[in-house]
Amino acid sequence: MNLREETNFLLTKYQLKAKKSLGQNFLISEEIIDEIVQKAEVNGKDFIIEIGPGLGSLTAKLAEKAGKVIAIELDENMVEILNERFSLYQNVEIIHADVLKVDLHDMIQKEQAQKADISVKVVANLPYYITTPIIMKLLEDKIPVETITVMVQKEVGERLVAHPGAKEYGAITVSVNYYAEPKVIIDVPKENFKPVPEVDSSVVQLTLRKEHLALKDEKLFFRTVKFAFTQRRKNIGNSLTATGKSKTEVKDMLEKLNLDINLRAEDLSIEDFARIANFEK
Ligand code: SAM
Repeated sequence: MNLREETNFLLTKYQLKAKKSLGQNFLISEEIIDEIVQKAEVNGKDFIIEIGPGLGSLTAKLAEKAGKVIAIELDENMVEILNERFSLYQNVEIIHADVLKVDLHDMIQKEQAQKADISVKVVANLPYYITTPIIMKLLEDKIPVETITVMVQKEVGERLVAHPGAKEYGAITVSVNYYAEPKVIIDVPKENFKPVPEVDSSVVQLTLRKEHLALKDEKLFFRTVKFAFTQRRKNIGNSLTATGKSKTEVKDMLEKLNLDINLRAEDLSIEDFARIANFEK
């Protein structure tokens, strides 16, 4: 049975339909699953956190290579199937929860208490309705992971790797790049899913940075980025006043930083944003 047939078989057996509200588009290409596992360099030292295992197609391949897989799934119907499917696996644990509410630090600490020398990786085909909140939770909560290898909508992948000046370049690009180095590693046409979604997908890999840009105040940096892009059509001379500075103060700061007042947020590099956030009179 190939993966397409297996997916149909499981959905029929359990009398289930993919739930659109939970972003259920099941991967039905064995080749792509193999490529994800290979590019994530999954090995025996790895503690893998999988988000949204669904019917468990990726989970099974991860379990063949990883030391341990913890798979977090919100849909109780899927959890039932997963518990049955993986009941004999020693290295797979299924958690029935909303990933946005799980304490991942605690989960990792418990794992480390049992086995000190583990490396933590996230590998997942994400539910698209909460892609950004999931990625930002992993990064902002500073979950100690080496890499995050995730399937996202192609358009999201393009935004993560965009360069200044591009229309895809935005607050999410700058925020993610502060924490990690993103790469698009696999292009996945939409026909590789059941049901077929409206758009194509990409697998992106985020390698967490060991050293970050020097910031005096991380919160102020992210606030500056957010305000600048909220008004992305305005020039920075105007949009940066939203951070609480007067127009004259902004003009004076930009002059001292050697940045043209008529630039827009999309023209600024992550280093420029850091210089603005770090600026003191
Ligand atoms: N991994 C499977 C695959 O590749 O075929 C399924 C991927 S599907 C795109 C996304 C999965 O995430 C679904 O199984 C869905 O039920 C689950 N999901 C949706 N929201 C979730 C949440 N908040 N927390 C955990 N899992 C969630």
